[in-house]
Amino acid sequence: KLASREFHGEASVFDIKGIKVGGGHLMMIAGPCAIESEPLLVEIAGKVREAGANVLRGGAFKPRTSPYSFQGLGEDGLKMLKATGERFGMPVVTEVMDPRQIELVERYTDLFQIGARNMQNFDLLKEVGKTRIPVLLKRGMSATVKDLLMSAEYVLAQGNRRVILCERGVRTFEDSTRNTLDLSIVPNVKGLSHLPIIVDPSHATGRPDLIPAMSLAGVAAGSDGIHIEVHSCPEKALSDGPQALLPVQYAQLMEELRQLAQLL
Ligand code: PEP
Ligand code: MN
Repeated sequence: KLASREFHGEASVFDIKGIKVGGGHLMMIAGPCAIESEPLLVEIAGKVREAGANVLRGGAFKPRTSPYSFQGLGEDGLKMLKATGERFGMPVVTEVMDPRQIELVERYTDLFQIGARNMQNFDLLKEVGKTRIPVLLKRGMSATVKDLLMSAEYVLAQGNRRVILCERGVRTFEDSTRNTLDLSIVPNVKGLSHLPIIVDPSHATGRPDLIPAMSLAGVAAGSDGIHIEVHSCPEKALSDGPQALLPVQYAQLMEELRQLAQLL
């Protein structure tokens, strides 16, 4: 299988607009859950960039549980994301939810995000596999490690070799956190696959008080990056406000991560 260690013995390392991914390089993705306005995005981007983030995230098409919740700004949001990424010299990542959106999103993004809810949308996986844009593939909330690797296989089999996996928590009986972070997947995947894997403690825990410890633990476990939602006014955020870190909290966490990286 193309995702396996047998196919490719060494950890895959590739480049996304000058950012090295995999093989111990840390991809630090940060930004708001949803793009809400250009000034707000610029404010958050400037702060996370200064703190050391190297990839900017922001959703323009949001997979909301309720159809009455904010669905994202669509193409207007994509334009804001691209402009802001260029302004701060950061590659950008945004979710694509449907094969029909690929042509549009491709014009604005440096990295496609496939959300947890679409991890087994096989037509979507095949279509992003035909593009030359790298793919951030999030683990489905009840997907096994094998399921995740098979989904990656769909993308790889179409010729797109730049796939990054992302652990974002799975559903369990535990209800004091949004999901349950399965950190063992990091060394587990590293034994089975050459693909980079990053950790998203924002969606995994849903709790700002737990995000720093889980980020440090992720890096200690061998994660190739950390994906964190940051908002300068979480109580007013249109999506995932309760789990957002403030820019100052993100900066503090980045400092702790740098100290850990020196220890490692
Ligand atoms: C997100 O990144 O905002 C998101 C919707 O993530 P997930 O697909 O992991 O729930
Ligand atoms: Mn979110």
